[in-house]
Amino acid sequence: MFTYFYILGLIAMLVIRAPYNKLISKNNIIDKRKTPEVLLVTVMTIGILIIPFLYSITALFHSNDFAFPLWGRLSGLLLSIAAIWLFWKSHKDLGSNWFPTLEIRSGHQLIRTGIYRYTRHPMYASSLLWGIAQFLMLANWIVGLSPFVSFLLLYLFRVKKEEQMMLDKFGDEYKSYMKTTGRIIPRLFKK
Ligand code: SAH
Repeated sequence: MFTYFYILGLIAMLVIRAPYNKLISKNNIIDKRKTPEVLLVTVMTIGILIIPFLYSITALFHSNDFAFPLWGRLSGLLLSIAAIWLFWKSHKDLGSNWFPTLEIRSGHQLIRTGIYRYTRHPMYASSLLWGIAQFLMLANWIVGLSPFVSFLLLYLFRVKKEEQMMLDKFGDEYKSYMKTTGRIIPRLFKK
């Protein structure tokens, strides 16, 4: 049954993202930083789609299930819902400043409001949280961990480059923003 919640969560995230994909203008790229996108997309496709898909339609990976009480799986479901909320909220707050890769476009604004008041990377935080939630929900060493590992790789490959790009574009404004926010863990009490 929890496999259905996994699939529902994925669909919810695709639906949340769809309108923002449409907002992306085709040109006006001012700056773009390279990440190994082909590698990352391949890892994500395998980790988030192919492995869970094989798990749901075959007996593959079922021997890697571990015993986990229902309350543990339900807390995974609650965490999954919270992560999807955070995913939605960060898209809403970033608005037309969201891009699937590391880019600065003309008219790009630094967002410091909404959820971005507390953390600089709430969207990455939401995907990592969602990954942890799937581990609890699916209770499987391979299928449960593969989404988290995929998102972790994306995060690690991107976050420093993204912050450098933002620093180059927004300078002191981003520096002062960094002082009042956490990278992925919210800084609730300002200095
Ligand atoms: N790292 C952020 C955003 C991910 S989307 C998060 O996890 O919430 C990646 C794009 O968002 C990058 O191309 C960058 O240009 C843009 N971006 C990241 N932080 C931003 C901010 N505070 N304001 C405006 N754009 C931002």
